[in-house]
Amino acid sequence: PGKKVLIVYAHQEPKSFNGSLLKIAVEELTKQGCSVTVSDLYAMQFEPRATRNDIVGHLHNSEAFNYGVETWEAYKRGGLSKDLVEEQKKVQEADLLIFQFPLFWFSMPAILKGWMDRVLVQGFAYDLSKAYDGGLLQDKLSLFSFTTGGSKEKYAIRGDIRYLLWPMQHGIMHFCGVKVLEPHICYAPENVSEEKRKEMLTAWTQRLKTLWKEEPIDCSPEWYFK
Ligand code: FAD
Ligand code: ZN
Repeated sequence: PGKKVLIVYAHQEPKSFNGSLLKIAVEELTKQGCSVTVSDLYAMQFEPRATRNDIVGHLHNSEAFNYGVETWEAYKRGGLSKDLVEEQKKVQEADLLIFQFPLFWFSMPAILKGWMDRVLVQGFAYDLSKAYDGGLLQDKLSLFSFTTGGSKEKYAIRGDIRYLLWPMQHGIMHFCGVKVLEPHICYAPENVSEEKRKEMLTAWTQRLKTLWKEEPIDCSPEWYFK
């Protein structure tokens, strides 16, 4: 109770399975007394491209554009574009970040990747020698909740799904100092029975009920590749 949750949601259709998972999270966490904020990226028409437009006013070096350097400098002087500042404020206030999305090409949809690229700016999320356990977004938790097209059996045969969580959980969240909870994966909602779909939705509600008692994973190579 009293915890702040930011759900970054990347699906175009509210009636989708991802939409249902989002709705459940908002309802259940609100019921617990958490304050829940949703960044509905498609509805917001969130800009995924990392460009010059993210810097308001003069450039640090207008001769040769370097996105990392320019956003870092702009962050320090309060010169990042409004949409980025708003997302950073939501991140700053949150105790828990939930990412809700369908798996696209073993990764996140481009609009969500763009959110990571643009929001987690140097100086805000990490800094020189302030990364991983020293990252700037300490004392926050993250949870990747996603759906797949492939079945659980297929993933078991073709390679552990944990391999593809390495870039997202370790490369992004852990890099920024955010702790990582077990991912929540709903396999193949399009190809299972209505009954199985309902079961998966109930399982998500159940998990959320005891979420705050969970310990983060040990986000080290062993968890992914042991
Ligand atoms: P939906 O189609 O929205 O939902 C499935 C079914 O659930 C629908 O019939 C819907 O009506 C129903 N439903 C919704 N809400 C409820 C409810 N409350 N109760 C009961 N039923 C409900 N998959 C992979 O495994 N690996 C990949 O690398 C991959 N890459 C992809 C790349 C692209 C570009 C695309 C477009 C897809 C890719 N996929 C991949 C598949 C993708 O991950 C799945 O299509 C997606 O995860 C399915 O989730 P959804 O929310 O869109 O499902
Ligand atoms: Zn890690």
